[in-house]
This record gives sequence, C-alpha cells and structure tokens, in this order.
Amino acid sequence: MNNPSQRIGPVTVHFGRKNGKYPDGNQVVVTGGEVRAVFDTPLSSQTGGQAGAGPLDGAELVLLGHVHEDHCAALNRLPRAAVFAPEGDLAAVRSVDGMMAHYGYSPAASEKMRVKLTGEFHFQPRPDARGYPDGKVWELGGGVTVRAIHMPGHTRGHSVLMVEPGGIAFIGDIDLTGFGPYYGDACSNLRDFLDTLERIEHMEAKVWITYHHKGVITERELFLELLRAFREKVALREAAILRVLAEGPNTLAKLVAHRFIYPPDYHDVYVEDVERKSLTEHLSILLEQERVKEEAGVFRLA
Ligand SMILES: [Zn+2]
Repeated sequence: MNNPSQRIGPVTVHFGRKNGKYPDGNQVVVTGGEVRAVFDTPLSSQTGGQAGAGPLDGAELVLLGHVHEDHCAALNRLPRAAVFAPEGDLAAVRSVDGMMAHYGYSPAASEKMRVKLTGEFHFQPRPDARGYPDGKVWELGGGVTVRAIHMPGHTRGHSVLMVEPGGIAFIGDIDLTGFGPYYGDACSNLRDFLDTLERIEHMEAKVWITYHHKGVITERELFLELLRAFREKVALREAAILRVLAEGPNTLAKLVAHRFIYPPDYHDVYVEDVERKSLTEHLSILLEQERVKEEAGVFRLA
C-alpha cells in the first residue's frame, strides 16, 4: 500500500507512518529533467526501491541532509545510487564504527545500538558515499537545483537542502516537534544548534519540510510560531536544570537520573547517554555564563 503523499512543484513528499514520527520519517523525492533525487531514506521506503515500486523508484541520487539511523533506513534499497552526505557526517554513513563514533554512547549502549542499527534500521554502510560542503549545488535538469545550507547542532554536518524553483526547504531534524531540539550525540552541539535556530528564522524559503511529524509547512507565520515553540524547549530544559541546582549541589550522575530530556517512563538503549550529553551541553553554556560553578565534579548555582 502506498503512503499518503503531497506534491509541491518538483518535490513529492511521501509521509511515513504516524506522519513520519520516529523511528519512521517522511520521504522527500525531487524530480528534475534528468535526475531523480531522494533526501534521506526512512523505514517506510523499505516497501520500494530499485527492486520494486515505491517512493524510491528511479532514484539515482541520495542526498542525506544529515546522518542518523532513521535517515539511512532504506539506503540498502538503492545500492547503485550515488550517495552524498555532509562532510561533518560522512564517516557515520561509511561504516558502523563511524556511526558509533557519531553517537559516542557508552560501550553497553553502543553494543545494543549496533544490533538495532543493522536489524531494525537495515543499515548498510556506504563506503562509496561522498562528502559535500556548505553551498554545494546539484543540478537535476530542467532548471531544478538543490543547494546545501550547513545548519549544524543536531549533528556536526546537519544541513538544510533547498530546492529551486519554489524555495522549498527540507529542514530535516530541525523538526519543530513538541520534543524539541535533539543534541544528545557526541556529534551534537547546543551552541551550534542555537545559532542554527537563529539563522533558519531569517532563511528565505516559501515551503518548509520536516523529516518527522510536522511535514509540510507553507505559511511563514506558522513556521515562525512552531520555531519559537521549538526553541523555547531549550530554555525550559535550562530552567529545569537551574531549578534542581537551586535545591542543592549535584553531580552529573545525579542530574542524569533527574531526566531533563526524556520522560522518566521512557526507555531506550541510549536514553541515559543522551541525557548525559545534553546536560553536558547545557552545563557548558551555564559555566561559561558564570551562572553555574563546578568543583570536583559537583555543580552548584554561582
Ligand atoms: Zn537526526
């Protein structure tokens, strides 16, 4: 069965299960006069590919906006397509070890993630993948182009892929969901993410497409409203950390157990590592701003 889809100029969006909620995503296909490109490959695209009918049909080019397990989940369906990834994320698509370094989880979580990656997410490394820099342009024929705009933070290489004509921006995992920004991997950086959220507000576009959940947004006002709420999640997490520190000094381990990112009843192999990395990002900013002090691994309000 085909998923619901939406056509916008040269772009077709095939919505994933539950509107592309993780672990699935929305499949973007761009059809030029000569080349058909796909942006990322979600689990729901496993139904098609070069072996059969589906959203990946006829795709010769895969442009990854960034590299994560849920974005490479049907690459195995396109063994002959040319694959491009942002330079900062390239090692992660080239090998499983590269992906593990990208996450930077503890040995126990990494072991479980390896199993999930190749099992649940069908990951097949692409040592043939090529890196692209900020500003790279692909011409797909008939005047259809794709331009990469480096917007890091979620991952080191995370990029927006801008399709013209139409000003159609694939904004990937700047996904405007209620969860808020994700900066829980070794390759994530909260300062960069905050810069990115500032820059994307001023980026000229007419249509915004997220990989998860929100899907296609065609009104600037709505985009700005969702962006404000998304950014606000960072401030809310920071306020929650400060509230706990106001009650007394805390070690990182104790703060991790508090759960500032995931709800306490949410379980997955990476949750503790993601909490730790995300907290480390917040604390680094708070230390720099001299709002928090650290001594011998104990954090307290300054
Ligand atoms: Zn991601």
